[in-house]
Amino acid sequence: MMLIDCGLLFPDDDMGGVDKVLPDFSYVLENADRVEGIVITHGHEDHMGALPNLLKDLKTKLIGSELSLRLARNRLDEANLLGQAEFIAVKDGERRKFGAFDCQFFPVTHSVPHGMATAFRTPAGVILHSGDFKLDLTPVDGRITDLTGLGHLAREEGIALLLSDSTNADEHGHSQSETTVGGVLYDLFHAHEGRRIITACFASHIHRVQQIADAALAFDRTVVTLGRSMQKNVALAREMGILNIPDHALRDISDLDDLEPDKVCIISTGSQGEPMSALSLMAANDSKWLRITSNDTVILSSHPIPGNESAVSRVMNGLVRMGARVVHSGHSDVHASGHAKAEELKTFLAVTEPKNFIPVHGEYRHLVAHAALAEKMGVDPKHILVCEDGDRVELTKTGIERQGSVPAGYVYLHGTLSDIGRGLLEDRRVLGNEGVVVITATVDLDQRRIVGGPEVVSRGWVYEPEAGDLLDDAADAAYDALRKVLKDEDAGLGDMEQGMRRAVGKLVSDRTGRRPILMPLVTSQH
Ligand SMILES: [Zn+2]
Ligand SMILES: [Zn+2]
Repeated sequence: MMLIDCGLLFPDDDMGGVDKVLPDFSYVLENADRVEGIVITHGHEDHMGALPNLLKDLKTKLIGSELSLRLARNRLDEANLLGQAEFIAVKDGERRKFGAFDCQFFPVTHSVPHGMATAFRTPAGVILHSGDFKLDLTPVDGRITDLTGLGHLAREEGIALLLSDSTNADEHGHSQSETTVGGVLYDLFHAHEGRRIITACFASHIHRVQQIADAALAFDRTVVTLGRSMQKNVALAREMGILNIPDHALRDISDLDDLEPDKVCIISTGSQGEPMSALSLMAANDSKWLRITSNDTVILSSHPIPGNESAVSRVMNGLVRMGARVVHSGHSDVHASGHAKAEELKTFLAVTEPKNFIPVHGEYRHLVAHAALAEKMGVDPKHILVCEDGDRVELTKTGIERQGSVPAGYVYLHGTLSDIGRGLLEDRRVLGNEGVVVITATVDLDQRRIVGGPEVVSRGWVYEPEAGDLLDDAADAAYDALRKVLKDEDAGLGDMEQGMRRAVGKLVSDRTGRRPILMPLVTSQH
């Protein structure tokens, strides 16, 4: 078994209290002795963020570009798990065997440097996994997606199966080249001369950081990084020689007060409105480093990931409230997507000419849109599969076929609780939206009579001082129900709780049209 990537999701607003969403590793761990390694296609959270969670239970090889591995190493180091991984760096174009796996790695352009597509030569033919990619002919580092190499492979050996990034499959046209953002930033720095400039982008987007720094330097500004991951990644990228900011032009955030506001450019984390990020703290006037004023221009060099829109909007409101001018991708092209759009995906399909095709990486509608593109590009619909998490697919000389599935799905993390499960999330949602009603009573089981209660209290359901009648009526309904159940000699405490739950539930729903969580509790007195 060779794994490709090991990422995580960030929770939606409806997953109350959840910090992280992980894949279900049970199938991988049950087969731990068969795992040869993990190919890390690139350094994004959704591709390597769950490595610490898997590697705490699995010792294995990590295979990827030098940068991808350095980013993974940082993550494992923070979790004290460095000893669990053997790091094997591979170069662009390199072909190498790992156990039964004959792998070759091709450069692809994306919003973090040094991403890779991976080809696996198998007895049933070549399987090509695109990784996250775009076709940018003028990327900041000149390292373009290797269409020549992939085309050569397709011509010489044929691509039996292509798995390709579907994120932007239902966006028409072609994504902007990353270098176009540089020009836009330059113009913005010109237009906002005399003001302090604060920018925010993903800390792993080294090319964006480079372009922001280039614009800053062009206007004699000193670059100041803010946010732990930004500081860490800038240091790493400079050390590796893939980010060029001269020593004299880079200062620590603690030096900010020594610099003239109109001669600095702060590069911060938090472009997705992450709650504890540097930018969110600024927007909440809670930053220990700086206070936003009407002399600030904040450039969000990013686009909110679906689900983050309201968090980003909250941050922008906070900044504007304090007088800042905020520039975002809505009024200026300060961001270019790292994922291929429809025309690029078609080009990729034309170059690789896959016999079989599985769209990957995207929501279901993106996968379906990508499947349609493949059909348009001549892939036989019988050789296209839209799969879901856990599907097992077999590739043979004749085609691809679904072969059942393995356990898959989401595991929800909250603090140190490992899997809090969907049921608990549903409870939290109801608690949050509807509140809770607790009904307590004490009975004498021998004499079959009520000796205390029922009492009804609620939190978050109705405003109690104004709802005395409702609570009294609920208590009466519970009393009647409890008396009825007590008459049945065989009825136990569970039956009594059930009876009260039904009676109170009906009254609550009839009178208020609501369905709070009901917690009946009957105790017996001896
Ligand atoms: Zn990515
Ligand atoms: Zn991704």
